[in-house]
Amino acid sequence: MASVQTKREIHPLCYEHHNEMTPVQLRLKTRINGSKSPAYACREPSCLIRYTKPRGYFMPPGGNQLEEEITPCVTCPHDGTPMYLARVRRDERSFRLWRCPECNVSRTNLGSLLASA
Ligand SMILES: [Zn+2]
Ligand SMILES: [Zn+2]
Repeated sequence: MASVQTKREIHPLCYEHHNEMTPVQLRLKTRINGSKSPAYACREPSCLIRYTKPRGYFMPPGGNQLEEEITPCVTCPHDGTPMYLARVRRDERSFRLWRCPECNVSRTNLGSLLASA
């Protein structure tokens, strides 16, 4: 078992497709300050959305140069870390639950901040 354990497992969802993203190796020239944080990719083969912990959601350059994609940028109110989409609700399509990978605090797009732990 050679899995590299980070201090906390995160399970970001693709903000487009709402399925759980899988850890990938970034082969692009996307250097992240020497950080070994894994990148996450959507399972949809055509989906270019990636997530890394220090950067948040982003699209690799070159995939879609027609327009700048607007990636959601929800940051943690405590440490400013880009939060990841942790939960959606099928019955409430506008609902989003965001979570900070650093301090694990959650917030919803409805404005409430949920204390965790
Ligand atoms: Zn996707
Ligand atoms: Zn935080």
